[in-house]
Amino acid sequence: MTHRADDPWSAAAERMVADQIVARGIDDPAVLEAMRTIRRHLFVPEGERARAYEDGPLSIGRGQTISQPYIVALMTELARLAPTSRVLEVGTGSGYQTAVLAACAREVFSVELVPELSARAGSTLAALGVDNVHLRTGDGSLGWSEEAPFDAILVTAAAADVPPALPDQLRVGARLVIPLGTTSQDLYVITREPGGFRRQSVIPVRFVPLR
Ligand code: SAH
Repeated sequence: MTHRADDPWSAAAERMVADQIVARGIDDPAVLEAMRTIRRHLFVPEGERARAYEDGPLSIGRGQTISQPYIVALMTELARLAPTSRVLEVGTGSGYQTAVLAACAREVFSVELVPELSARAGSTLAALGVDNVHLRTGDGSLGWSEEAPFDAILVTAAAADVPPALPDQLRVGARLVIPLGTTSQDLYVITREPGGFRRQSVIPVRFVPLR
């Protein structure tokens, strides 16, 4: 998944990382490297490509969005991944967040409700040679119990409450990163500790609803 430094999108990606991500305090080297090298324009519809490195979410069809680059970087950093981590993502969408996770972890399991989006994400990831991602179509709020426990779980759509199946699929010490709320939402990190769960709120966010 490396790209030649002289490819025409390289300057846009470098600028995105410097102005939107480093400037807002993200400093995990693996996350920054992934955000520099993964070409975000390949995950958005043709008509949106010119805007792919801008500081906001973009439409990916079916009423769904690819998250703002900063939010993708923040959620990945909050997950505290290691090269050995196995991660669950709920809401594959375009597959862009999936690709960032795959660059920072050993294996990514990602569930998407809309078959068409999952299929498109699968072909984008395959074209980029990403081979440590497993995609599945279905209700991700149930998690992926056969592959649990995970070292991190990311949910990229907002729920009113934590889907009860997800915290149980964290190993002890692992973190669930999830936007919670309806009219207003906040991003939360829920850590599984030996004696229970700790919940911290991070920043206000705006995601499409978990269905
Ligand atoms: N991570 C994505 C963000 C996509 S938006 C990206 O980088 O592009 C959230 C996605 O969650 C949408 O694709 C939506 O279809 C999906 N989704 C919503 N509810 C879901 C559920 N219960 N299970 C799995 N996916 C869901």
